[in-house]
Amino acid sequence: MTEIRMVDLRGQYLRLRGEIERGWGAVMESCRFINGPEVGELELALAEFTGARHVVTCGNGTDALRIALMALDLRPGDEVIVPAFSYAACAEVVCLAGLVPVPADVDSATFNITPQSAERAISPRTRVLMPVHLFGQPCDMEGIMALAGRYGLHVIEDNAQSLGARCRNSDGKAPFAGTLGTIGCTSFFPTKNLGCYGDGGAIFTNDDRLARRIRMIANHGQEEKYSHRVIGFNSRLDTLQAVVLNVKLPHLPDWNEARRRVAAMYSDSLAATEGITLPQAARGADHVWHQYTLRVAGNERDRLRQWLASRGVPTMVYYPMPLHMQEAYRHRMRMAGTPEVAERLAAEVLSLPMHTELTQNQIEYIAVTIKEFFATSGACPE
Ligand SMILES: *Cc1c(COP(=O)(O)O)cnc(C)c1O
Repeated sequence: MTEIRMVDLRGQYLRLRGEIERGWGAVMESCRFINGPEVGELELALAEFTGARHVVTCGNGTDALRIALMALDLRPGDEVIVPAFSYAACAEVVCLAGLVPVPADVDSATFNITPQSAERAISPRTRVLMPVHLFGQPCDMEGIMALAGRYGLHVIEDNAQSLGARCRNSDGKAPFAGTLGTIGCTSFFPTKNLGCYGDGGAIFTNDDRLARRIRMIANHGQEEKYSHRVIGFNSRLDTLQAVVLNVKLPHLPDWNEARRRVAAMYSDSLAATEGITLPQAARGADHVWHQYTLRVAGNERDRLRQWLASRGVPTMVYYPMPLHMQEAYRHRMRMAGTPEVAERLAAEVLSLPMHTELTQNQIEYIAVTIKEFFATSGACPE
């Protein structure tokens, strides 16, 4: 059996390298490294793929979130509701914008905030909901948009982990995650479901006025050269990265399908294993399995992790600490109750290898090794 990797970017590269390197060659010849025509082509392709009216690419997913907040006419001290259990960028950009993050607890089955948990975090100063579609699964966007409508809030979707996942609405429509809020954001960090070969990000909106503003902010606040109308900064996607993404985007549906197959194999092989809870796809929602994340009961997570590592199975803990316990954000947040589920998840979650190159043999080996841990002395306290 070949070495098991947490992520494996090489297989896709080898399959697409001819096309990618031809595209790179053309950019090198033209020397249009910034804002080459490939960037505009990618923006159009992403708009067509997702159905979003406007797509603006930028330097990375964190910038995408930051630009989204800057585009919304918020005032210092306004509150933004973020998940307590998420990647740090969410709380970070809120603080950078002079705003106050308010953590909402997440659901233990989906790892996402819910309309109910978000509502409990609302105050008269709340202006924005920032749902994160974590690990590949969209939040209940119908519920979240209804909540936003009732309280007059903006919604910024952090879709860094769920590009290509569809929400299932009660009217039968299935719009893509990241296209439902006021603004959607994504990241093309190499390990995301659609990744480039460096940093990259994009912003989605159906609002013409906001799209213009977003484009200005990402380019020093200018629409025409040397006429600076708002405070912006420099956040652009390199032309070389746009080439990679233009080649990769058409494959995203197949790659997400390959991830679904991996997840289904894990779930079959690990069914009814005592000591772990398997991740669930919420009824109705698509799941594109950015991560396959177990919950390990009884304080055994770290020992299981070691057991697997010593048998050639890498794992990761996304995320070991909820945002409201992080030193950097702790004192900048307003707390609306203790996010108890987030705290429990931080102690229990364990993400297994997940990528498009995993073989059935590897998946079976990983499952058997996990079962052995619980069946043998591995599960006994030291
Ligand atoms: C990756 C990620 C980001 C940040 O994206 P970068 O491109 O690394 O800046 C933000 N939010 C979530 C949920 C992410 O997974």
